[in-house]
Amino acid sequence: MPTLQQRLRTSAPLPSTPARVVVVGGGFGGFHALRKLQKLLEPERAALTLVAPNDYLLYSPLLPEVATGVLDPRDIAVSIRQTLRKTKTVLGHVSAVDFGERRLLVEGHEGTTEIEWDKLILSPGSVTRQFDIPGVAENAHGLKTLSEATFIRNHVLAQLDAADSLPDTPAGRAERVERLTVVAVGAGYTGTEFVAQMQNWIKGIATRWASIDPNDVRWLLVDLAPAVLPELGEQLGKEALGVLKARGVEVRLEVTVASATATSVTLTDGTVVPSRTLVWGAGVAPSPLIATLGLPTEKGRLVVAPDMSVPGVPNVWAIGDAAAVPDLAADPSKPTPPTAQHAQRQGVRVARNVAASLGVGEAKPYVHKDLGLVADLGGFDGVAKPLGVPLTGPLAKFVARSYHLYALPTTAARVRVATDWLYSTILPTRVVNLDQVRSEDALIAKAQGQ
Ligand SMILES: Cc1cc2nc3c(=O)[nH]c(=O)nc-3n(C[C@H](O)[C@H](O)[C@H](O)COP(=O)(O)OP(=O)(O)OC[C@H]3O[C@@H](n4cnc5c(N)ncnc54)[C@H](O)[C@@H]3O)c2cc1C
Repeated sequence: MPTLQQRLRTSAPLPSTPARVVVVGGGFGGFHALRKLQKLLEPERAALTLVAPNDYLLYSPLLPEVATGVLDPRDIAVSIRQTLRKTKTVLGHVSAVDFGERRLLVEGHEGTTEIEWDKLILSPGSVTRQFDIPGVAENAHGLKTLSEATFIRNHVLAQLDAADSLPDTPAGRAERVERLTVVAVGAGYTGTEFVAQMQNWIKGIATRWASIDPNDVRWLLVDLAPAVLPELGEQLGKEALGVLKARGVEVRLEVTVASATATSVTLTDGTVVPSRTLVWGAGVAPSPLIATLGLPTEKGRLVVAPDMSVPGVPNVWAIGDAAAVPDLAADPSKPTPPTAQHAQRQGVRVARNVAASLGVGEAKPYVHKDLGLVADLGGFDGVAKPLGVPLTGPLAKFVARSYHLYALPTTAARVRVATDWLYSTILPTRVVNLDQVRSEDALIAKAQGQ
């Protein structure tokens, strides 16, 4: 008996030339769109092309574990060439889109090239939101790319190395405080997971330096919002706050950064915190590409219809963090939150809708009821709300890790991550500093190729 996919394929006669389907961005949305398109459309019906700056899908929810060295950076970089075998990959940044001529300009290593499309899916994701705060662009590091996560890990280790060898003089003691203070901005999942996991990691290794006691390291988490992890609701936010406080992390809510220098962070309440480490996780803004398109946006995200097509521009769809997809399962007047959970599922749905536009299957609006979020707080701590059920402690941690293993897109990636988790529990913690990424290459704008 023919499978559903075979039946869908045979539902329309093949065209004389395949349609050129181009996807911009190889993250959660773009990757899953192409994986589904490969299954739905035979090569005679559609020629698939991906334009992306990297040849991998970055599984960003596990970036904090790269920053603590539990995971190797390659564990969470899923090869596009190995997985999307029927897709042509063009490495580069799309710098301009001409909707009239159906052309893209791509800036790659070899210069600028043009790509034409018949069907276009935009999934360029988001970038770290910086605001216009003096000193942040020059001194803060985000946690959205592998180079940023690798840099932060090495930078924190370098601070401990330097602090350990400072002389016991007034100047040496002042510098030691700067080097042993870490400020994280943003108490959403990025900042909270980072500070919790990093604190747990450093606490376990600090005694390897002759003069450093784990309690000498000061951790500060600040956010303008009144709660930690608001995405998980009041109860779990309080649980996470309790875990952080019990570990000695200072949490400063309803306050943010007024300015930063290489050696200090000034908060909006006037507090000056001597610190050489400022990690920026204060939310995301849609990819700068969206603002260049000249199309309507909602808080910077491209306005799309419930089927993710772009109104008024035939044969163009947009998904993920860069698109304001109406959240039909919760509140249709609001867009779906910028999460991997939605971007991945929007990718699958948009693939079906694009296939429908080529005569295969049926187009439908995007509807997905949020499964809830998970947050790994390091050690045996975590908070999670799978399907609305609040969980804390080791059970939440187990659910968080199980979810990531399920959501990683390939078996190879699952095995690599699971093996590193196993090693991290039975082998000594990794503390070497390979120092591969320079600070200037991990500044927010540079790391994101802006
Ligand atoms: C530290 C961290 C933790 C997170 N934890 C969770 C979590 O636990 N659960 C969850 O659901 N979500 C989580 N997220 C959010 C999740 O990663 C994003 O919502 C998701 O990646 C969005 O998918 P996307 O396809 O829209 O964008 P992305 O996955 O960011 O992919 C966009 C791609 O487009 C590329 N691109 C950008 N501009 C261009 C251009 N001009 N031309 C070509 N290519 C371009 C980018 O390089 C990237 O490869 C986390 C994010 C971070 C940073």
